[in-house]
Amino acid sequence: MRIFDPHIHMTSRTTDDYEAMYAAGVRAVVEPAFWLGQPRTSPASFVDYFDSLLGWEPFRAAQYGIAHHCTLALNPKEANDPRCIPVLGLLPRYLVKDNVVAVGEIGYDSMTPAEDGALAAQLELAAGHELPALVHTPHRDKLAGLRRTLDVVRESALPLDRVLVDHLNETTVKKAKDAGCWLGFSVYPDTKMDEDRMVAVLKEYGPEKVLVNSAADWGRSDPLKTRRVGDAMLAAGFTEDDVDRVLWRNPVAFYGLSGRLALDVQALDAATHEGNSILRGGE
Ligand SMILES: [Zn+2]
Repeated sequence: MRIFDPHIHMTSRTTDDYEAMYAAGVRAVVEPAFWLGQPRTSPASFVDYFDSLLGWEPFRAAQYGIAHHCTLALNPKEANDPRCIPVLGLLPRYLVKDNVVAVGEIGYDSMTPAEDGALAAQLELAAGHELPALVHTPHRDKLAGLRRTLDVVRESALPLDRVLVDHLNETTVKKAKDAGCWLGFSVYPDTKMDEDRMVAVLKEYGPEKVLVNSAADWGRSDPLKTRRVGDAMLAAGFTEDDVDRVLWRNPVAFYGLSGRLALDVQALDAATHEGNSILRGGE
């Protein structure tokens, strides 16, 4: 089973996670820029973070045979902090970089006017840079949050079919699907979707444009949830082709809209061997 985790925060994870992910079939990840838990106090903090998502983390991932791309943005939560807003002016020089495959995560946290402004501005940045967008939907008031998100996208220059709406569940999937968006589901140990609910959604709505991610980060989460969904799909009677579509081809198609996705699996295998010898050499 080949797996592409389209939303995972590897900066918060260990090398054991990388090893376990590789063993489970993960060969590619996308790491969206997000809130680090500790509030940032200046735009310079974003600069260092973006540089690390473009440099250090892909290097770390390659040592374990995993291709790493990122999406960059001012995250929804920090869109409310005036100390962070100036990063919007720095984003254009980052969005031209090869490893950036979307603008994200953007969207709503508490649905404030400041979040409206940041979302609209970053949808324009995505359109202007010919990048798709990864849009986070709020964990509270999910349906209202999705409605407002879709309204803002409709008013933007970015078409709905270049938007991945993430953290969907049974209450929001239909509306996002009817709008023509790509459909993201985060599978967590205790909140959001679990494997069985995910299988039920796939049975009802089909695998078209569906992406499943672990959204693993610094909180309680499991970077192998993608694999567990693949196994649950097979146990429920889905074919290997269905699993490959959801766990590999759909993320490749969505982030491929950027024209920047580089997935050379042979090079990745070589990188693994090289990475291992670098690691051994360093010991
Ligand atoms: Zn996230």
